[in-house]
Amino acid sequence: MHIQFSKLLAFAGLVAVAAPIYAQKPRPEDTEVWEPVPKAVTPGATCGASPSDAIVLFDGKNLDQWVSVKDKSPAKWKVDDGVMTVNKHAGNIETKKSFKDYQLHIEWKIPADITGSGQARGNSGVFLASTGPGDDGYELQVLDSYNNKTYVNGQAGSIYKQAIPLANANRKPGEWQTYDVAWTAPTFNGDGSLKTPAYVTVFFNGVLVENHFELKGETRYIGKPFYKKYDTAPIKLQAHGDKSEPISFRNIWVRELP
Ligand code: MG
Repeated sequence: MHIQFSKLLAFAGLVAVAAPIYAQKPRPEDTEVWEPVPKAVTPGATCGASPSDAIVLFDGKNLDQWVSVKDKSPAKWKVDDGVMTVNKHAGNIETKKSFKDYQLHIEWKIPADITGSGQARGNSGVFLASTGPGDDGYELQVLDSYNNKTYVNGQAGSIYKQAIPLANANRKPGEWQTYDVAWTAPTFNGDGSLKTPAYVTVFFNGVLVENHFELKGETRYIGKPFYKKYDTAPIKLQAHGDKSEPISFRNIWVRELP
């Protein structure tokens, strides 16, 4: 009787140990997530066309979504035949609306008869956040880099003077080119110090040229980059002061990210 009772105890102990193990046996359902359901978005009819939830910043008709950076007056770049062309005398333009994290699609073209060399050959730029006058902010460089030597952290597809593009995916002058960008804005503490840095991913004509690059701060012509606190900011296009022929943009849209 004494032996049987101890056997019973041992069996009970085994069950006590085994039961939780059996209960924890993983099932496929354990790792299935059903909510929240992602919102439905109708993709653009063709590659590069705006999806249903995009904010169209330029559809080829007018500059209603843009103002002059200088004085916030209506943007004075030329619009013709579905295309906007830089007006170097009018200066940089920026969106009326401000953004935080987003996906951006923008197309640009260097004139077929472009002249100049280095940084003075079709220079423009897409400032992913315009944080002040002039060239303040975070510039994704636009330049003719098809066959035009310059410092590599300043060629097309670079984050100006911070990130060398992973490839040179330039098309010839005269051909339309695309940037598809994922921008994660920096965040700041109450005292203005950096909380989390900005990140950027860029596809240039479908080729990955910036892969979740962590920015060191705003892009700067002279000196080291540093961060400056902002919350939301417009997207800015550069009217560069070089003497080469002005470049054009078309089909610009943005999708705000949660
Ligand atoms: Mg530039």
